[in-house]
Amino acid sequence: MPGLPESSVLRNRDHIEFRLLSDGDDAPFLALSTVEAGSMSWKDSRGPEHRQRLYDNLGIEVPVHAQLQQHTKLVNPVSDKTLRNPPVQTGDGLRMPRGPGFLSATVADCMPVYIWHRKIGEIILLHSGWKGTGILAEALLRYSPRERKEEITVFLGPSIADCCYQVDRERYNLFRASFGGRAVREEEGHYFLSLLQANLGIAEKLEVTSVYYYNPCTCCNPEFGSFRRQGPQKFSSMLALIGYFQ
Ligand SMILES: [Zn+2]
Repeated sequence: MPGLPESSVLRNRDHIEFRLLSDGDDAPFLALSTVEAGSMSWKDSRGPEHRQRLYDNLGIEVPVHAQLQQHTKLVNPVSDKTLRNPPVQTGDGLRMPRGPGFLSATVADCMPVYIWHRKIGEIILLHSGWKGTGILAEALLRYSPRERKEEITVFLGPSIADCCYQVDRERYNLFRASFGGRAVREEEGHYFLSLLQANLGIAEKLEVTSVYYYNPCTCCNPEFGSFRRQGPQKFSSMLALIGYFQ
C-alpha cells in the first residue's frame, strides 16, 4: 500500500492536487485547500468567500455538494439537500455518480478520504476523525469483494499523525481495540493515534488492492489548517474536493 508518488502531488499556493493513476483521462479531480486559501468553515463569516475564490482558481463552475459534518459514519447520496448553503443534511460521507459536480468536506486534523470506482466513475468523499474512524468500512461495504479488489481506488489525505495525535488512555484503548496495535503508539506513558494506520488497516481487511496515501502531519506543517496547532478559536478549516468538471 504505497504512498502517492511525489510526482502525483501537485503543490499550488492555495491548494494541493492529488493525481490518481488512471489508464485514460477519466480520473476525478482531487484537491485539498491549504491555509493560504483561508478558512472554509461555514461558521467563519468569510468562509463562503474563501470557497468561491478557490472554486474560481480551480475553474469549478459545477455544483459543489456539502453536509453538516458531525463525526458520524453516515455516507449519503448527493441530492438537492446537499446543495444547500450552508449545509442542512447531517453526514460525514457523500457519494455521487460520474457527472459534472464536486463533493466537499472540511477538515482540520481529521482525514479526508477519497474513493473512486474506476469502472463506473462513482466517487465518495469521507471526513474521518477519531470518532468517525470506521466510516471507510461503511463506504466500502457498498461494493462487492470483486469491485473492492479490481475497481476501487482509495486515497487517504493529510491528517494529524501519530507524532502529534496525543489522546488519553481511554481513547487509546478504544482505538486499539477497534483498529489494532498498529493504529496506536505509546511512548513513556503518552498515548497517540494513527488515523493513517487505522484506515490502511480497514482497507486491507476489506481487500482493497488500490490504496494510496499522502499523509504529512497537519499539526506539524503550518501550510495545513490544524485544530490542535491553531486552537479551537483560530483553526483554519481546509476544503477537500473530489469531482468532475464535466
Ligand atoms: Zn505531527
